[in-house]
Amino acid sequence: MDLSLFFAGTAGSVPSARRGLPAVLVRRGGDRILFDCGEGTQRQLMRSVGLADLTDVFLTHLDTDHWFGLPPMLQSFALRDRRRPLTVHGPPGTRAVLERLRFVFGRPAYGLSLVELEPGEAVRRDGYHVAPFLARHRGPTAYGYALVEDARPGRFDPGLAERLGVRPGPDFGRLQRGEAIDGVEPEQVVGPQRDGRKVVLTGDTRPTDATVVAAHRAAVLVHEATFAAEDSERAAQTGHSTAGQAAHVARDAEVGLLALTHLSTRYGGREIRDEARAVFPNAVVPRDFDTVDVPLPEKGEPELLRWAEGGAEGAATVP
Ligand SMILES: [Zn+2]
Repeated sequence: MDLSLFFAGTAGSVPSARRGLPAVLVRRGGDRILFDCGEGTQRQLMRSVGLADLTDVFLTHLDTDHWFGLPPMLQSFALRDRRRPLTVHGPPGTRAVLERLRFVFGRPAYGLSLVELEPGEAVRRDGYHVAPFLARHRGPTAYGYALVEDARPGRFDPGLAERLGVRPGPDFGRLQRGEAIDGVEPEQVVGPQRDGRKVVLTGDTRPTDATVVAAHRAAVLVHEATFAAEDSERAAQTGHSTAGQAAHVARDAEVGLLALTHLSTRYGGREIRDEARAVFPNAVVPRDFDTVDVPLPEKGEPELLRWAEGGAEGAATVP
């Protein structure tokens, strides 16, 4: 099952010529889930991977740079006769904010639900769930989200099963489902359950222990790094993180890969990356349209793929 994160916008607060406002598209199998939807997100998607029929949108908080792209996107979905229902999830206050812009998107025939989540209230989907945790930003409730796949069954050893006298065929399936066959116990031939993949996105936040807990052993942590250390006072005042602070969170959480986003326009990216790598070497700073691929652990490590015109075929791995 493919799992990847596509960075549709990597700027914070205001866009620049190079970076659009926050939006990350998670692609898992056929599911398309958007985390945040800054102004211009639908065009960012059209210019790159296309505007897919999203099934869920998760808003981290209600600062304008994180949701203002949503009303026009909802309207576009209606104009192109979308049929699949769409749910927009967010912190308390999401409904009131979007209702004020109801005149933009109306009551679309595809079925639009606005759902306000409590911290920890998991949204179940086929094979995984998405759960919000409290971030610490200025103003009202801000969330990060953890997308956690269901555990996978242990690895079955068909050769061993055969040597123990089980005949290939339906009995193999029964063993894998936990039935004993002719005195052979499932535990003898099926390994321990394997954890699913976890990816965690913080939205806007100061560095917090809650993120360390939520991101513990995540394959990928997408953490905001609005500032570098030289602006740490400003980061504290505005409820944001520096690259070094985000890297400490990643290190404490023992994540596989740290992807830094929500950059202030005063940074190009290199200084953010270097500051983070001094603390946590496996840190990357995606540009708009870059992808982080998240393979199953036995297939490899998460990696950043740079966007190249022409799409994934032209993408290059970044060391
Ligand atoms: Zn922001």
